[in-house]
Amino acid sequence: MAFKERVEPIILSKLRVLNKRLELSDEEKRYLSNLDKGYQGELQFDSLTGTLTNSCLILNELLLEIEKATFQIDTLIIFADTLYIFEIKNNHGDYLYKQDGLTSLITGASIKNPLDQLNRTKLLFKKLLNQLGYNFKLQGSVVFINPEFTLYQAQPDLPFIFPTQIKRLHNHLNNQPGKVSTNHYKLANKLVSLHQIESPSNKLPNFHYDELTKGITCLGCESFSVETAGQQIFCKDCGHKEKVELAVLRSIDEFRLLFPARPITTPSIKEWCNIIPDNKRISRILAKHYDYTEIKKGRTYS
Ligand SMILES: [Zn+2]
Repeated sequence: MAFKERVEPIILSKLRVLNKRLELSDEEKRYLSNLDKGYQGELQFDSLTGTLTNSCLILNELLLEIEKATFQIDTLIIFADTLYIFEIKNNHGDYLYKQDGLTSLITGASIKNPLDQLNRTKLLFKKLLNQLGYNFKLQGSVVFINPEFTLYQAQPDLPFIFPTQIKRLHNHLNNQPGKVSTNHYKLANKLVSLHQIESPSNKLPNFHYDELTKGITCLGCESFSVETAGQQIFCKDCGHKEKVELAVLRSIDEFRLLFPARPITTPSIKEWCNIIPDNKRISRILAKHYDYTEIKKGRTYS
């Protein structure tokens, strides 16, 4: 098990909900799709590192800061002798390597050379480690996780791991010598305490409560074509069924994610869920799962 698990970036969670309830621009949709693709690639790499059996500490996703510069490590693995950092890329298709960027042979579009990012991360991380009083050997690689990725003209000495080399990487990591000690745990704990939660607000499209489609979306197909049938909600598009209570809780999660400052009350959740006309039903669900404070106008849940 990882010492620090990866959680879905808040910006991605928010965009997923907005995408259901708002008409996103093509650019915003592309942004969402890229974020999602990146995250799926990282999860795929996690499932690989999750099967390492030797002594190590795996820290997934760290956002750190040194001297006002922030940097992100997709995966850090602490072994007895060496720290490994991995930058994960989930691009697919054929690309041509040049120092100033990777060019897609299909669309002609260029993406930044991930080595620049890796080198920056290594430099800043090294600085941070020194500041914390550690002097471990540091290795860094870019892992291209997508099996349908090819990079032409990349020199073999570049720190790239291609899909065909991932199994070998796994063996290599599994054969790292030594055992991690309390000192390594101390470092891991320190890094987790320094990890920052990214503020997602600046990259989000502007949205206003009134513009968003209200209602409960189907868990199966995300459509709003659901109606209540007894204790369940039923999707007219795909036939998926879900307990009303769970569907309401899911919708409240979306409400809280997008509008953390809005009070959770029976009327606000009734409006948000739209398809449940019964106040008592909403109140019961809220009272069961949330704490509440009584105010003059009624209960506010938290
Ligand atoms: Zn459905």
